[in-house]
Amino acid sequence: MKITLGDILSGRVRIVVRRRRARRKLAETPEVKQLRAEAKAYLPARLKELAEMNGFRYNQVRIKHNVSNWGSCSVKGNINLNLNLMRLPEELRDYVMLHELCHLKHMNHGPEFHALLESVCPDHLALRKRLREYKLI
Ligand SMILES: [Zn+2]
Repeated sequence: MKITLGDILSGRVRIVVRRRRARRKLAETPEVKQLRAEAKAYLPARLKELAEMNGFRYNQVRIKHNVSNWGSCSVKGNINLNLNLMRLPEELRDYVMLHELCHLKHMNHGPEFHALLESVCPDHLALRKRLREYKLI
């Protein structure tokens, strides 16, 4: 199909531009650099502790910087943690890490996932609500 300028101006054809937000390279500002250093020093060790305390086994942990999630878990058992976690109070950091650890056993947000999360983090609903007050940078 050949599209003319007339088609666009008349609205017969609409051009949609999608921005790949998640793939955008975020700037390594001094603040981000600092958060990354803190995250590398703290998060892997804390994730290991939480996993051992609650009987979870993961494969690898990586520190990521994105504005789309606080953490993620892959089917291969790898956990990604956002360096923004270092801006959160300790109990919210733990909540995010426990949430991702629960995905090692349930790769969804179904009733079994929530029952498991409830068992390792009884306060998870209130913590989830508090987490919404924070924005990823
Ligand atoms: Zn989840």
